[in-house]
Amino acid sequence: MAIPSQPRPPAPVDNPWDRAAPELSILSAGPSEMDRKGLRALLEHLGEPAFRGDQVFEGLYRHRWTSWDQFTQLSKGLRTKLEAAGPIFIPEITESVASEDGSTKHAFRLADGKQVEGVHMPYPPRGVHAPAPGRVTLCLSSQVGCAMGCTFCATGLMGIVRNLSAGEIVGQVVAMLNAHDHQEGGPVNLVFMGMGEPLHNLENVMAAFRILTDPGGMALSPRRITVSTSGLVNGIDRMGAYPKRPRLALSLNATTDEYRSRIMPVNRVWNLDSLSEALARFPLEKGERVTLEYVLLQGVTDSLEDGRRLARFAQRFPSKINLIPFNPHEGSGFEPPTEERIGALCQLLAKAGLIVSVRRSRGQDVAAACGQLVRGLQVAAKGPGGSHRAKRLP
Ligand code: SF4
Repeated sequence: MAIPSQPRPPAPVDNPWDRAAPELSILSAGPSEMDRKGLRALLEHLGEPAFRGDQVFEGLYRHRWTSWDQFTQLSKGLRTKLEAAGPIFIPEITESVASEDGSTKHAFRLADGKQVEGVHMPYPPRGVHAPAPGRVTLCLSSQVGCAMGCTFCATGLMGIVRNLSAGEIVGQVVAMLNAHDHQEGGPVNLVFMGMGEPLHNLENVMAAFRILTDPGGMALSPRRITVSTSGLVNGIDRMGAYPKRPRLALSLNATTDEYRSRIMPVNRVWNLDSLSEALARFPLEKGERVTLEYVLLQGVTDSLEDGRRLARFAQRFPSKINLIPFNPHEGSGFEPPTEERIGALCQLLAKAGLIVSVRRSRGQDVAAACGQLVRGLQVAAKGPGGSHRAKRLP
């Protein structure tokens, strides 16, 4: 007699990033979550011709309208139907902190009351002359909290709370451009370097990417959108399979497995060798390079031996290196590298045939690490008795 086969037990889950992060369901069916195709289908469902969906998409993302009342080219009756289909949801800016260099860090409240943050960075920075002003870079969040647990990061301390929806990601862009009165046509760069690991929320990040790059709306250039990962190799492989996708950056920060595993737990699963293999098989377009971000800490990551290891890592695939001198803040326990050492490392990397630049962090006087503004707001929240007290993070 055949022995009935036992059902296979599910694969063990060892790491928080192996589990799908919780999703927000309350907004998922509303117009603010739809791409142009979805809006065309919605308008047809409401008994209108499909091109009305294009008009709605244009209003939402080219004109950045935030109320159905602004859609005056649509009949009152249709606006009422759209209102019933769902409100236009844009994350609310609840706190903004301006930096001396002209950048502004914003805290956003989402529909369920959770908070994330983003940064608006105009170029040139305040006090620097440039021939073509008007460019802006927006740093976006992709999750509430983060599963990756990097030890240097305020967001990592929160753990993962949930994914942002595509509409919430796009909504950060709309909210920041509106708050800063950005004129249509001015170049906009987007970097996913705020709260969360974007490759742990890849589907929603890619859905937002499609909305943001659609020529009928904001029409941002895919080349101006960069996703920065802590080294989630399965996410790198999955993003590489999309025919159209953002640029890729890696937050490297260490050149030995021993040190990287200490500060970035993901390295214990995908070490530097498996990371460089993933980047070497990532399907780059002609002329495209992976950006490597490397923070220089004096006496920790800035030795010439670090420089040589960094060069060997970066030579395995088309890359460009951003050296980021650490900007010291109270209690960090780290110091920035000397200018001589920065120069020596640049020379070493350039001699190895690599493209290298030194990036001075923007907005460092307003918060030293991503997630710090939101954590600060939550910790400073007043308790019921009116006194300031630490509040449990969600
Ligand atoms: S540095 Fe990025 S990936 Fe690491 S915990 Fe912070 S938000 Fe997550």
